[in-house]
Amino acid sequence: MTASPTIIGAPHFNFLKGITTMTDIPNPVDLTRTLLLFNTVNPPGNESELARFAGDLLSGVGYEVSYRSFDLKRTNVIAILRGGGKKLPLCFSGHMDTVPLGNARWRVDPFSGEQEGDILYGRGSSDMKGGLAAMIVAGLRLARLDRRAADITLVLTAGEEHGCQGAAYLADQEKKTLGRAGALLICEPTANYPMLGHKGALWLEAEALGAAAHGSMPEQGVNAIYKIGRAISRLEAYRFTVESHPVLGAPTLNVGTVSGGTTVNIVPDRAVIGIDIRTVPGQKVEAVRADLAAYLGEEVQLSSAVGAESVWTDPADPWVREVFGIMEPVIGEPPEVRGVAYFTDASALKAAMGHPPTFILGPGEPSQAHKTDEYCYASKIETAAEAYFRIGRQWTEG
Ligand SMILES: [Zn+2]
Repeated sequence: MTASPTIIGAPHFNFLKGITTMTDIPNPVDLTRTLLLFNTVNPPGNESELARFAGDLLSGVGYEVSYRSFDLKRTNVIAILRGGGKKLPLCFSGHMDTVPLGNARWRVDPFSGEQEGDILYGRGSSDMKGGLAAMIVAGLRLARLDRRAADITLVLTAGEEHGCQGAAYLADQEKKTLGRAGALLICEPTANYPMLGHKGALWLEAEALGAAAHGSMPEQGVNAIYKIGRAISRLEAYRFTVESHPVLGAPTLNVGTVSGGTTVNIVPDRAVIGIDIRTVPGQKVEAVRADLAAYLGEEVQLSSAVGAESVWTDPADPWVREVFGIMEPVIGEPPEVRGVAYFTDASALKAAMGHPPTFILGPGEPSQAHKTDEYCYASKIETAAEAYFRIGRQWTEG
């Protein structure tokens, strides 16, 4: 995930007043600490144990829980709290995996949830076990409401950090179990600022093939590096025709990797580049891929590694006004229309669930994602749990 520059100050604590103490519902910070104990570093992920733990908590208060694995120990959870069915469900979603620890030494234990004042450390504290815990606690509280006019769906995904594998699997194979949603809330780190979308991502490999020959007789071979070199030059000159998005900006293209050849005295028979394209609303990743394939011609073959569509919600949507109203006291001013720099599972889930209005909103610090000694503010986790509960209550009682 690419860090977003947005960092919001400390939450307004009076927002938390009026929370009744619930001895049998875990405190969201304690629950975050528990979730940190599960090592879900991806690769390999191993989300299954965390999935079962969360699923047990939710089924204990009446959620219908389905476990859907896309590989050994790679389990997604879909938990549905049945309501009156007067309107479509509100869906909360978060991922269970984290990125690796990195090469630098950690000053703190990445898995035990060490806390210094308001700062809670751990791999995944910001991205995004804090958000996951807040969403689960809100889900447990919503099960206590006497009157519910709509279902509440919680989707816990595996494999997000490797191109949204788990969400893509659910979108492809489990659309029926997911069902349609009336609104979607992705609990990724935004420091509790409500965000309306993000760019899409298309990661491609372009491969050029040649014919090997002795380096002293290049005329007898076909040099794949020359082919890939021409492709790189063409990519540097490539211009998107779509207009810039007023909030998310313009689409971008970057050649991030290049490799080819075996040794200096052999004409290289293969060369490959990695291309990272970020799309904006109005572009479809498949159409961009096809356009680029035609533009580069037959010298290279393109294959897709990741294709995640952009996500955007109209700020005039009534639910957006509702959530902005709930979050205004948290951020201390009327929220502005903003997006995040990274992409999320919403790329897969939004389309699969019928394109509901979507927020990215979570307690983690976007600047802490993927960092050594990653941390999250405990108070923001509590604030998020309360905000999610209010958003859910308004949806299902309103
Ligand atoms: Zn994340």
